[in-house]
Amino acid sequence: MIPSEIDQQCRLLREEVRDFLRHEIRSGAITPQCDAWLTGFDPAFTRRLGTRGWLGMTWPKAYGGHERSQLERFVVIEELLAAGAPTAAHHTNDRQVGPMILRCGTEQQKKTVVAGIARGECIVAIGLSEPDVGSDLASVRTRATRTDTGWRITGSKIWTSFAHHAHYLIALCRTGDADAQRHGGLTQFIIKLPNPHVRVRPIRLLTGGHHFNQVFLDDVEVSDDDVLGEVGGAWAQISAELALERSGPERFLSTFPLLSHVTGAAGGSANDEMLCAIGDLTSQLWALRAMSMDVADMLEHGQSTNAEAAMVKDLGTRFEGDVPERLRAFIAAEPSLSSADSAQSLLAQAILQSPGYTLRGGANEILRGIVARDLGLR
Ligand SMILES: Cc1cc2nc3c(=O)[nH]c(=O)nc-3n(C[C@H](O)[C@H](O)[C@H](O)COP(=O)(O)OP(=O)(O)OC[C@H]3O[C@@H](n4cnc5c(N)ncnc54)[C@H](O)[C@@H]3O)c2cc1C
Repeated sequence: MIPSEIDQQCRLLREEVRDFLRHEIRSGAITPQCDAWLTGFDPAFTRRLGTRGWLGMTWPKAYGGHERSQLERFVVIEELLAAGAPTAAHHTNDRQVGPMILRCGTEQQKKTVVAGIARGECIVAIGLSEPDVGSDLASVRTRATRTDTGWRITGSKIWTSFAHHAHYLIALCRTGDADAQRHGGLTQFIIKLPNPHVRVRPIRLLTGGHHFNQVFLDDVEVSDDDVLGEVGGAWAQISAELALERSGPERFLSTFPLLSHVTGAAGGSANDEMLCAIGDLTSQLWALRAMSMDVADMLEHGQSTNAEAAMVKDLGTRFEGDVPERLRAFIAAEPSLSSADSAQSLLAQAILQSPGYTLRGGANEILRGIVARDLGLR
């Protein structure tokens, strides 16, 4: 049960965010898109959110945060996603990078990186996946070896979103013997970019879009001050980080701008078949939202949410893919990214982005394994 005082604060905040977004859309500053938390890269918009105090909302004021509740943060994120606002320049940093550095980073890392994210001025790329290593992160082969002055890192990361814009890369590296300690012996490093020993190669999507990269780390020298958390302790750090990645409203709202547009455009003219589709999708959305809010509430109270978060992501990302599949029957035109017609362009965005929904942040098959383990079934 949400106390009425917080409930009231959330209502006021929701209105404030809606007013702001209405103004941004009407003035042409932003255009609603599907999956805009990945495809809508707009650093100026991110800075405007930072100025309003809508980044790092729950973080300590000492590091640029605003010490507000998880539910208030949920409200802001939900409104940004529902409007299809371009949040890609900060979304993952606000969601998981900032909290991870606050949990295990040094004072210096908090004062620079975390405070920079809260201002909307610092972009951090996440270097977990490697060629042939995505789901099974304990098998990473990028290696950091001790030198007289710190560490030397060699290896390659792949699917690294926005590495070409990033000010830092957090790289998961093997520092110990993989045979002796599969989950031990892993360490994270914060690498400042650009760096002459870091090469970022774009991986373009079929649409021509570019957020993915392969990153080559070729004898990158870092100091002990660049270690994030414990040497050898990264497994626990990334497990906690990934739990934050899975339950937020971005796991069921990526295609909401399409659902909202089609519903609004139908007005009173929807036939029974269309009403059934919209009713079915909306009821699923409402259930997912309730589940996601429960997880936000659990996080607020410091509870473990591994299985619950995994369930939200599994159900929510399949729902995201269902939205264009169900609604395309009611759009009497071909999907087209370049069309000025919102239905056509939103449909094209929703379809073309859909292969990633169930993969990013941990493939759904892996998440079901987490749920099974939590239920004692494996
Ligand atoms: C849009 C997008 C953005 C991304 N951004 C980043 C980023 O910024 N940084 C980063 O590090 N990574 C990023 N990734 C990579 C993402 O984390 C990986 O794609 C994901 O973890 C899956 O790993 P993989 O691609 O190696 O697939 P694999 O692990 O090879 O899996 C392929 C298939 O096999 C299944 N599978 C694998 N192992 C098992 C098992 N044990 N049991 C059952 N089924 C299994 C999987 O479920 C999946 O369906 C991004 C991916 C996407 C799609």
